[in-house]
Amino acid sequence: MNLRDVLHAISTTYHSIAIRDIAATKSRPKEPGNYVGHQLASLIRNEAAEVLYDCVALGQSNFTTTKGSPGQDDWAYVPWLAVYDPLASAGAMHGYYVVYLFDAPRKAVHLSLNQGTYSVQQEFKFRATEVLLDRAALMRRKISDVSTGFDTTRITFGHNSSLATNYAAGHIVGRTYEGENLPGLGEIEADLQHLMKVYRTLIFRGGLDFEDQKPDPAGSKKTLTEVRAYRLHKRIERNPKASKEAKKVHGYVCKCCEFDFAEEYGDRGKHYIEAHHIKPLSSLIEGAPVEYDIKNDFTVLCSNCHRMVHRHNDLIDVVTLKKKMKRRV
Ligand SMILES: [Zn+2]
Ligand SMILES: [Zn+2]
Repeated sequence: MNLRDVLHAISTTYHSIAIRDIAATKSRPKEPGNYVGHQLASLIRNEAAEVLYDCVALGQSNFTTTKGSPGQDDWAYVPWLAVYDPLASAGAMHGYYVVYLFDAPRKAVHLSLNQGTYSVQQEFKFRATEVLLDRAALMRRKISDVSTGFDTTRITFGHNSSLATNYAAGHIVGRTYEGENLPGLGEIEADLQHLMKVYRTLIFRGGLDFEDQKPDPAGSKKTLTEVRAYRLHKRIERNPKASKEAKKVHGYVCKCCEFDFAEEYGDRGKHYIEAHHIKPLSSLIEGAPVEYDIKNDFTVLCSNCHRMVHRHNDLIDVVTLKKKMKRRV
């Protein structure tokens, strides 16, 4: 199966299988057998997510993940296939990500740069839709120069479920396909690669974060691109997956001053250290994928040394810092 086959299979069959099943279970007791282990549910969860991964893996960060969901405990009104970059989202409920959202009644599918709605819902309750719309508009403006060719108008669904309302509000840019009239595989893949590039550009530009427009505390004349590269560097080393792996590979003793938290603080200090990304900022290019080479691109530092390496937002390398230390190690 290729990506086109997958989009075709889900968009053209989901309504007759799942949506009818949802309607039927409203008038009779639920039969979990209709859903659990169903061939279509399994296709969305497994094969489709794998096919999508194979399509996006090339040219992406090696920490990119994909997931497909036909619903959690029962069929969902809006099944989806999503791609997450760890710098923007760890899952469908948070951040922003690229997703295929199936509009089952119309046998259509929206390729969409969309947002997780969970935290917005928690914080803003019945105003969540408004907030999602505002956020989508802000992010849309941030990437308007690189997203030409995509639709910026609101997407719609053939039913009024609350999920559909949130997805419609969270939509930033994308393209809608008719399941029975899909373009060729090449065009589908090209659209996906283009939207992934828009996604990576949005990540580089800070997503919803507008802090990169604050004046630089050191008063240096950094360009906006340099400030953004520096902020991306910080997000890379704070990425929980990368930092966890870096600590596993590089250990828990500071590579600059040899401070060992466990030695100093006993059990409380055990397995404490900070991951630091050592690739030059000039290697972080807008729109390009971030490669995570844990062994060669990361090191570990104690909190003091890490602060000193980063002081004045002006990164120096660990060897230079080591030479500056009064207490020789
Ligand atoms: Zn140190
Ligand atoms: Zn660092």
